Amino acid sequence: MITNRSYRGVGMTSQRTRDRLVETLRVEGISDATVLDIISEVPRHIFVDEALASRAYENNALPIGHGQTISQPYIVARMTEAMIAGRHLKKVLEIGTGCGYQAAVLSHVADTVYSIERLPVLASRARERMHVLGIGNVRIREGDGFEGWTAHAPYDGIIVTAAPAEMPETLKQQLADGGRMLIPVGEQGVQRLMLVRREGDEYHEEVLELVRFVPMLAGSGPTAGV
Ligand code: SAH
Repeated sequence: MITNRSYRGVGMTSQRTRDRLVETLRVEGISDATVLDIISEVPRHIFVDEALASRAYENNALPIGHGQTISQPYIVARMTEAMIAGRHLKKVLEIGTGCGYQAAVLSHVADTVYSIERLPVLASRARERMHVLGIGNVRIREGDGFEGWTAHAPYDGIIVTAAPAEMPETLKQQLADGGRMLIPVGEQGVQRLMLVRREGDEYHEEVLELVRFVPMLAGSGPTAGV
């Protein structure tokens, strides 16, 4: 949860601009009022470079350096909505912290958010942003998301924000009974956004829509991605 509300913004980063984005998302089919309220509250311009701040409330993905992107607000909202399905969750795992925007959104719908990023520089910058916004319930770790985060498993929800070529079994197994995972699967280009629901030892998979994410790459560490 954001506790420091002094990052309200003015002009292109103002509350009014943010509310226009919320309106766009509503028109595009996001209906969960909690999710729309969170998008209205989280200052997305804090998660991009200053030079791009005036574009932060467009419904687009934007570059965050190191060949990575901040996800499109519609996709963040869609994945969050499908994962929570109207519930408040205890533990959520995110793979691919990037700038930390999705994690900040998740901090409002879960008691604790665990997020893994393979590029140390992005992980540490995202940590700083959580600190600046007074978000105390997001834990960010450098590592390879393919392994998940076993120490805190199982998770009520998992959101993967980079696309593996195939569905990773390890992550499915870290879902709690009744848990839901949102994950883009496929080769670079167009991928399928999958919803995986765990019921006991059964996993139900459905395709929600076609999406475009950066690839999920194996390995992590100081030289990863350099
Ligand atoms: N969640 C971000 C989007 C991040 S883009 C947002 O809120 O906008 C995807 C991120 O996944 C990149 O930062 C990339 O470095 C990271 N990534 C790619 N493969 C990974 C892996 N195996 N483990 C952890 N992070 C990974």
